[in-house]
Amino acid sequence: MWFDKWCSIGPIEQIVSRRDRYDFRLKDDMVVAEYRQLYGDSWPDEWRRKYPVLDQIKVPELKNNHDAMWNRLNIQERLLIWNPGASYNCHLCDIEVDSVQHLFFKCDYSKQVWGKLKEKLLFRGLSNELHVIMEMMAIYPYKKQIWSILTRLVIDASVYFVWQERNKRCFQGVKRNSEELITIVQDYIKVKLLTLKVKDSKAVREVEQKWGVNLMKRM
Ligand SMILES: [Zn+2]
Repeated sequence: MWFDKWCSIGPIEQIVSRRDRYDFRLKDDMVVAEYRQLYGDSWPDEWRRKYPVLDQIKVPELKNNHDAMWNRLNIQERLLIWNPGASYNCHLCDIEVDSVQHLFFKCDYSKQVWGKLKEKLLFRGLSNELHVIMEMMAIYPYKKQIWSILTRLVIDASVYFVWQERNKRCFQGVKRNSEELITIVQDYIKVKLLTLKVKDSKAVREVEQKWGVNLMKRM
């Protein structure tokens, strides 16, 4: 985040000092996804007052959802930034201690969500643990085939909405049970599927049947 050259002026590290970053507890090896989780697409006001040039510089974009997802999972420290020194029970299952590890790999709530969604992929006998599939997909190069697109879409959406649910419960006190969340994720995926233009194939028809959608066909 700080040392890559995102703009013509140079790396952000040449504008914002290490001290400034330290004051905001933004660590040196922070990645774009981590920054955006905390500040979205703006710079802290104090920095903008101190370094007006920042107004000309956009916060770097995430490369794609998949990168964002992987980055997100590497951010266990963020929990410590939010809750210094405290440990809480998981906001989703209220059984184990809240951590990114638990949330995505062990939590019963996320397992229910993932367990339901994986049935709508084109694979048989997938693991119940989302991280096993994520590791598998990380090895595969990105392909434009429907199974690859759908798998990534389902993984990204599962991770994103579980994370969102955790944050909603944590910060807004809003709760949705796993059935409700599954419906939300499925609706989101359907909308995404409807924006695709695909070549007709057996796999495409299987997706249409599983998801109850009609995909746009390329001639
Ligand atoms: Zn849990």
